[in-house]
Amino acid sequence: MNISKSIEAYKQAVKSIPGGVNSPVRAFKSVNGNPLFIAKAKGAKISDIDGNEFIDYVGSWGPMILGHAHPEVVKALNETLLNGTSFGAPTLLEIQMAETINAMIPSIESVRMVNSGTEATMSALRLARGFTGRSIVVKFEGCYHGHGDSFLIKAGSGALTLGVPSSPGITEGTAKDTLIADYNNLDSVEALFKQNAENIAAVIIEPITGNIGVVEPTNEFIQGLRKLCTQYGALLIFDEVMTGFRVAKGGAQQLLGVKPDLTTLGKIIGGGLPVGAYGGRKDIMDKLAPQGPIYQAGTLSGNPMAMAAGLTTLKIINETPNFYSDLETKSAMLEAGLNENLVKTGVSGVVNRVGSMFTLFFTANKAVNSYADVLTCNTDFFAKYFNLSLESGIYLAPSQFEAGFVSAAHTISDIQYTIEKSYEALKQLNN
Ligand SMILES: *Cc1c(COP(=O)(O)O)cnc(C)c1O
Repeated sequence: MNISKSIEAYKQAVKSIPGGVNSPVRAFKSVNGNPLFIAKAKGAKISDIDGNEFIDYVGSWGPMILGHAHPEVVKALNETLLNGTSFGAPTLLEIQMAETINAMIPSIESVRMVNSGTEATMSALRLARGFTGRSIVVKFEGCYHGHGDSFLIKAGSGALTLGVPSSPGITEGTAKDTLIADYNNLDSVEALFKQNAENIAAVIIEPITGNIGVVEPTNEFIQGLRKLCTQYGALLIFDEVMTGFRVAKGGAQQLLGVKPDLTTLGKIIGGGLPVGAYGGRKDIMDKLAPQGPIYQAGTLSGNPMAMAAGLTTLKIINETPNFYSDLETKSAMLEAGLNENLVKTGVSGVVNRVGSMFTLFFTANKAVNSYADVLTCNTDFFAKYFNLSLESGIYLAPSQFEAGFVSAAHTISDIQYTIEKSYEALKQLNN
């Protein structure tokens, strides 16, 4: 594969952009590669500036559930564009967006739009603190909630991939207000509540993780979390920036049957434009300015272009018959194929999947249910597998600790091709 233009571009980029990229995992560091500079994408295919084409399982890290450049999304953007791109004043699109979100996720009675997932979680935490009058937040080791200071303690995604569990620049004062529990270990949460009964404002969690790869909660754990929060008067925040509209129409909370107090959203609701949102119980949301005293604002919040792309995406999800069951069928086929490949080639691994989110973990463990299990993975093996996949035209997330995404645009033959090439890669690596 010729990637000479991307190699040149990267050399140029590092001169004027930190590390050559605007978000760390894009740099392909953990797979010992040169990042591909993208020229365009359409449907399930993405093309680099050298003209190589790939089946894309990154989907911009989650937003592109319809595939790239969906004609209806492009049309909505074109129409909106002509009327002006930002007014700093309310628009009807924002009401439509709020009503659509509230209808799809019943726990959200009122919702505020922001510009990224990071902004959503930061704002939700401030709101939880202001509402409860408490300062501590409990998060889970490996869970990623964007790059807000309070959450960059033992975080997943790029922070995990690059071995930066915490980051310089975060003060001790901030770090001390974040307590860490173990995912799928209710006792670890209960112990924190017992020691800090009156001081915990919120527990925040990726209800189904994506940022250490896909890991599902046990029923006992996730139901128990709800009970503990209620018992101790802390708010339960589901960070559904990745899982919202991804694993089901109503997100992970629908699948798991748990009602959080607040939910954070992002990725899919922007339809590929920069958006985040946080919402939940009306009595809590009404504490936000201008109704209440807790401040949060944004020059571009509820931006018409972003609302148009997001709303069109949600509209297509709602109006397409069998939208999620079709995604399930294709994703289940991919899962079965990958599992069969592991058996046939004798490579040790575990495939975790929820709906159209999946991770192939290269581990000798029989199952991956916790952060400790995730850490047993062979990241060198993953790097080689990643590079062979790329060579054969399959674009995976450049890290073992990420979710892959199947979109509505992936065809059965895309999936079959992926399974076939994955088999060849595994066979080659196990020789
Ligand atoms: C991506 C993600 C974020 C951060 O969203 P950005 O838009 O990248 O700031 C937060 N939480 C979860 C669960 C995510 O997957």
